[in-house]
Amino acid sequence: MNKYWKERKLWNEKIETMSEEEMRALQWRRLKKQLQYDYGNSIYYREKFKEAGLTPQDVRSFEDFQNIPLMTKDEHRRAQQESIERFDHPYGLITCAPIKKIVRISSTSGTTGIPTLYTLTKHDVNVVNEMHARKNWRAGLRPGHIMLQVLSLSMFTGGLPLSDAIQAMGLCCVPVGVEGGTKRIIDFLLLTKPQAVIATPSFGEYLIEKAPTLIGKEAKDLGIRWFFCAAEPGGGIPAVRERLREGFNAKVYDNTGGGHAFHGICCGDKEYRGMHFVSPDHCILELIDPETKKPVEMVDGAIGEMVFTFIEWEGGPFLRYVLGDMLQIFTKPCECGFPGMRLKILGRGDDMLIVKGVNIYPIAIKEVISHFHPKTTGTFKIFLDQPPPLVKPPLKLKVEYGSSVKQEEREILKEEIRRYIKDNLRVNPEIELVPPDSLAIETGATGKVKLIEITKDRLK
Ligand SMILES: [Zn+2]
Repeated sequence: MNKYWKERKLWNEKIETMSEEEMRALQWRRLKKQLQYDYGNSIYYREKFKEAGLTPQDVRSFEDFQNIPLMTKDEHRRAQQESIERFDHPYGLITCAPIKKIVRISSTSGTTGIPTLYTLTKHDVNVVNEMHARKNWRAGLRPGHIMLQVLSLSMFTGGLPLSDAIQAMGLCCVPVGVEGGTKRIIDFLLLTKPQAVIATPSFGEYLIEKAPTLIGKEAKDLGIRWFFCAAEPGGGIPAVRERLREGFNAKVYDNTGGGHAFHGICCGDKEYRGMHFVSPDHCILELIDPETKKPVEMVDGAIGEMVFTFIEWEGGPFLRYVLGDMLQIFTKPCECGFPGMRLKILGRGDDMLIVKGVNIYPIAIKEVISHFHPKTTGTFKIFLDQPPPLVKPPLKLKVEYGSSVKQEEREILKEEIRRYIKDNLRVNPEIELVPPDSLAIETGATGKVKLIEITKDRLK
């Protein structure tokens, strides 16, 4: 490894240090080409343009581009279904590349409805690998480091596509996966001695708590210097970050982007300043007002629903795709010195709840519950009478109190949490405090903790 390679701060200096104007120009060139490509190769996009009375030639500016109708997940599902009916496979409408060029099918981690598919060519896989390399390199990982991958290894984008990307940049990947259970994960952790772990924050917290009994030593003595949070939003919650940082004595990275073109990673500092957006050369990001769906100006501090468009993408390129995720962006240069606009994910569209007209995301509740640690364990669950998003008030929560909280302190704690949620999230919840470790925490297929349980029984 030469000196330059060792000291280089960015994986792709040419692209990652581009000025805003240069990047905008690159995006525009790629967007023009992509619109022609999408229009020429996808029945779905051609019809979409037609419905709006547009052709790619009519798009002469970014403002024109914002006249192209948005694409939703439901529409994506419908297009897949229609393709099955018309062509006997799901790729006939959105996928632009010929089927023989498709080398990978990924799927979202969503737990409801029919999975929506991402179709990737070899070119697209290389782009995904490049983005993971940009993120890991910024964090300081270099060839020779070992990363333990503790996520679901199934179709989920944090599974095989991630293993591939870790290896492609020259790191050693130990894809132990969550499927084998905790014992197997710990066996491989002790055997392979990774410096980096990528896992859900809740797994990290679990390991910190259980390591002394399960392994006979503290988590901070395991030699883990990097903890990458994935698949769950906890990596952006200050109290959770702090617990992981202290518990492992490691740098904690919040990290987004699986098997597609939208990727970001936070600074490794103690203070959380959002995730640096690392893939603007393959993904155009917009914000829209969640109610009116009109564009929101991309200025420092702006909040809106995320819209993304893949550029220089072959397989199933998304065009003005909305997932319902709420973002806040920061355009001012970051203190950490790394380039790129930053973003905070305020809530995932799939998880949104509506209580008396107020939108609330489980991540916001998680942030409150974590804020009260150690008076709470940080573990809680939302109980609903019917499937989300509509919630019949009051919103019902079970929260584990911390082991040091005495009986007589619990009523006060409960009231503190209720008031805090009411004042900050504008929802008045009904809270039941339960003993530590009493909430059965199941993880879904992706290893994510399920924060919502649907039940007909009222809380007793
Ligand atoms: Zn930064």
